[in-house]
Amino acid sequence: MSTGYVFHPEYLWHDTGTSAGLLPAHPTTGIQPAVHVENPEAKRRAHELIHASGLLAELVVIEPRRATVTELLRVHTGEHLQHIKAQSELRGAGDAGDGFSPVGHGSYDIARLAAGGLIELVTAVAQGDITNGYALTRPPGHHATADAGMGFCLFNSIAIAARHAQAELGLARIAVVDWDAHHGNGTQSIFYTDPTVLTISLHQAGCFPPDSGWTHENGAGDGLGYALNVPLPPGSGHAAYLHAMTEVVLPALDRFAPDLILLANGFDAGVFDPMARQMLTSASYREMTRLLIDAAGRLCHGRLVAAHEGGYSPFYTPYCVLAFLEELAGTITHVVDPLAAVVAGYAAEPLTPQQQAVINEATQLVAGIHAPASPAARCKPAGLTGPYPDRQ
Ligand SMILES: [Zn+2]
Repeated sequence: MSTGYVFHPEYLWHDTGTSAGLLPAHPTTGIQPAVHVENPEAKRRAHELIHASGLLAELVVIEPRRATVTELLRVHTGEHLQHIKAQSELRGAGDAGDGFSPVGHGSYDIARLAAGGLIELVTAVAQGDITNGYALTRPPGHHATADAGMGFCLFNSIAIAARHAQAELGLARIAVVDWDAHHGNGTQSIFYTDPTVLTISLHQAGCFPPDSGWTHENGAGDGLGYALNVPLPPGSGHAAYLHAMTEVVLPALDRFAPDLILLANGFDAGVFDPMARQMLTSASYREMTRLLIDAAGRLCHGRLVAAHEGGYSPFYTPYCVLAFLEELAGTITHVVDPLAAVVAGYAAEPLTPQQQAVINEATQLVAGIHAPASPAARCKPAGLTGPYPDRQ
């Protein structure tokens, strides 16, 4: 077993400017310039911890490249590409679409490098060069829809990699698991009518986007049943997430029988994160990762590829990243989460009736997922983007 790793200094050069947290600064609104919450620090420290811990030496480093326009257009509209490119050429601050998603000078090419890094990783996994992998990329992607950026996201790297896997690598059925604290709305919307891509999002209910990610959002048309949401109440932690994994995510994956599992790997459900109110610890991420590795092992030759999404605590996210990546690579470094004793009490919080109720609701929907029609259907020639008449 070997684990691939994608990182590039340019990921840290995506300039999100002087917003105060997430609010664009301007004197007329009384918002003083500060630092945007989606800044390089947590990612830089995560990469440096991977290096300093010795883990980097055990990984197969995969060099990223920029996604081509053809690859981007499998997911995004030409108008969206043009918009990001034009915003990126401005010397001042541009925006991806919602007023809260800065596009820095040159960010178009950096976002292409993020998507292309994930494409290279998925390709290496599909070719059997590596078993699984992690792309520590920036900017994030899971909120970006086909025609707009939002929530700090420019291009939806996960969706672009999924379409690449289908079109070029012969991997017909893709499962996207998203445990970022916020709803993976962009990914969900891109595949909402497509039964070949199962999206499962565990997130804080009603957090971001507002009024998005409820259990009744279950796919449409041919894709009915292939979007699953587990909107966990604020304050959910280890017990709720592990329960959601074993009761919803794993049974859904088993029924779907994917050829590849992509993970929208957000760490903002971590207990110290400023952008959500969930309570996961590095130990939680380690256990959740172990469950996904086991699922990938029994379902799709271990093919599990993760892309970094949220995670905004500069001092805690790196330890969650390290726990995740140690587990993915099947190794342990000498670095121990220095906050483990502090957060142990958080992780001991029991499952509440409210958490149980929403997980039960999502569990009922797993039956709407159908296994592949036949072995032949799983070997659909590459290059098709749908519809797939021989899929259930
Ligand atoms: Zn997030």
